[in-house]
Amino acid sequence: PNQYLAGLPTTIFTIMSQLAVKHGAINLGQGFPDTEGPQDIIQVAAEALQDGRNQYAPLTGLPELREAVAASNRRFYGLDVDPATEVVVTSGATEALAACLMAVVEPGDEVVVIEPLYDTYLPALKLLGAVPRCVRLAPPHWSLPEAELRAAFGPKTKAIMLNSPMNPSGKVFVREELELIADLVREHDVYAICDEVYEHLTFHVKHVPLMTLPGMRERCMRIGSAGKSFSLTGWKVGYVTAPAALASVVAKAHQVLVFATAPNLQRAVAYGLNKDDSYYQALSAQMETQRDLLRDGLERLGFETLPADGSYFIVADISRHAQGRGDVEFARWLIEHAGVATIPVSAFYDPDGETPPQNLIRFAFCKKPEILREALKRLEKAL
Ligand code: PMP
Ligand code: GLN
Repeated sequence: PNQYLAGLPTTIFTIMSQLAVKHGAINLGQGFPDTEGPQDIIQVAAEALQDGRNQYAPLTGLPELREAVAASNRRFYGLDVDPATEVVVTSGATEALAACLMAVVEPGDEVVVIEPLYDTYLPALKLLGAVPRCVRLAPPHWSLPEAELRAAFGPKTKAIMLNSPMNPSGKVFVREELELIADLVREHDVYAICDEVYEHLTFHVKHVPLMTLPGMRERCMRIGSAGKSFSLTGWKVGYVTAPAALASVVAKAHQVLVFATAPNLQRAVAYGLNKDDSYYQALSAQMETQRDLLRDGLERLGFETLPADGSYFIVADISRHAQGRGDVEFARWLIEHAGVATIPVSAFYDPDGETPPQNLIRFAFCKKPEILREALKRLEKAL
């Protein structure tokens, strides 16, 4: 078998979720909501199943979903997108990330990535023979080090992967940071793969797609996910917005990887994307309330929390409680002794790189307030 894949460890999300089940722990590890997405969206999917929308969808997605993605780009970001040639529907953002990488990289190309990073980025690009150039954000403010970012770009750079709002840090890149990235993308004539699955989950800060900056429209592949925008993570419906010349190649990658995504779910996601602004506002407002609840509770318990302006996640410093234990050991201890599952942040770094921070764990707050309160109670008892 392929040595790299065979040696790839089981994802940390599965490991922690399995441990959570084993120990009856509250799962604030893996990022999935514990409430179902909107019933009306589910109803549309159910009707589409009954209607017999069960054969292959068109390769790039149902026209109605591509139109809804284009309309959403216009409504939220003023982007003018041709639904016929500039949108590709994928089986989740995970597939979209792999397809966008496949669309642009060749063996030996370098790809700039920002740590801490989502766990599929490195395996996906390494399997294509690309070489990651990692730049680390500096906790506790998750600041972007300009000199290191500049140094990561060179003659072999083909692309940068940018995740904003970011998992696991909760960072939302601000305009100045995006301008710096855009400058480098232009200067080095490279592409940007923009993972924006948490685009509608920001808390009093505005999410700015890199694609909206000058010169970026023709270089960016912008990725969204119905899983996050509609709290339906099991559906695995994603969408890529890209200039036609790139979208047609992303579509080729999709052709090779999956070919077509479930049509009934696509129809329901098209319906969901067309919901009015109040839906999106209510979703982020609810998530913000849950973030505040968890953050305030963790702070009371002596965990210093790091800024989290978007996504499902907040990172906490465990130094006061860990008594010398690293994040992995402490996260395991919390499952076994407090009955609360989290994710050690060191799992979001290149295993072949320098030692990552050992003092940070990630909590998911996409859970019901009563569950978050119960988790805080359990933590208080155990610590
Ligand atoms: N990117 C990031 C940053 C994520 O957090 C996730 C979901 N965990 C994904 C991509 C994958 O999204 P999907 O479930 O749509 O494949
Ligand atoms: N994206 C989710 C998280 O970060 C989990 C996705 C997965 O389990 N692969 O928790």
